[in-house]
Amino acid sequence: MRIGAHVDRADPLAEAAARGAEVVQFFLADPQAWVAPEERTDTAALLATDLDVFVHAPYRINVATLNNRIRIPSRKHVADYAAAAAQVGAKGLVVHGGHVDKGHDVADGIANWRKLFTSAKEQFPLPILIENTAGGDNACARKFDALARLWDAVGEFNVGFCLDTCHAHAGGEELLGIVDRVKAITGRIDLIHANDSRDPFDSARDRHDNIGAGEIDPDLIVAVIRAAGAPVVVETPGGAEAQKADIDLLRGRST
Ligand SMILES: [Zn+2]
Repeated sequence: MRIGAHVDRADPLAEAAARGAEVVQFFLADPQAWVAPEERTDTAALLATDLDVFVHAPYRINVATLNNRIRIPSRKHVADYAAAAAQVGAKGLVVHGGHVDKGHDVADGIANWRKLFTSAKEQFPLPILIENTAGGDNACARKFDALARLWDAVGEFNVGFCLDTCHAHAGGEELLGIVDRVKAITGRIDLIHANDSRDPFDSARDRHDNIGAGEIDPDLIVAVIRAAGAPVVVETPGGAEAQKADIDLLRGRST
C-alpha cells in the first residue's frame, strides 16, 4: 500500500520525507490562476525518486464548459500541464471532471471532454486522471450515471480515474462498495484521494478534513483503499504533522 500526500510545490521531496510518504502530489503553479507551469529546479531529483509522483492540474480548468473563454484555455492548460507533468516523471495529471453551466446539457459537456482528446495535436504524454467532484447539478463526474456517460465518450483515450472519498461522500455516492461501482464504469482506478469530509452526505460541499475528524467513518475510507489497490494521496489540512498522522492511521489500518 503506497500512501502519501498533496504537498507544497516548493520542495515536494522534502515535504514527502517529512510525512514518511511513498506518494507525492503537487501543483506546478498557483492552482487558482491561469498561468503556465513554473520552471522547476528539482526535475532530476523527481525523475530519480522512488516515490510515485502525481501532478494536480489548476482548479480553473473546466474542459466540459460551453463557455469558450474557459474551455479554450482549459484545453491549452491540460496540454501544457500534461507536458510539464511528464517532464517530472508524473504517473498522471489529475483534472477535475468539470461541469456545464445551469441550463446547459451535461451531454454537451461530455462531448467537450471527448473533443479534448480528438482535437489534441498529439496524444498526451501521460494519462489524464479524471477526478470525481462534490458539487453542482451539471457535473460530468459527480454522480456515477453521468460518469458512465463520460466514460463512454473518453474511455478509449488512455484516460484514468482518480477517486476522491470526500467528493464521493459530499457528492452523494455511497462509499460502501464504491470501488466495484467505479471499476464497472471505468475499468480502473489510478489514484485515491483519501480525505474525510466536513460536510454531510450529498451536501455538494467540498471541504476536506483529516481522517476520522469529519463525517466519514474512517473504516469506509480504509475499505476503499484496500479494494482499490491504487496509490493513495491525502489532501487534508494541518500541514506535515497532521498529514503524517493521517498517513500513519491509514497505513496502520489498511495493512
Ligand atoms: Zn481530490
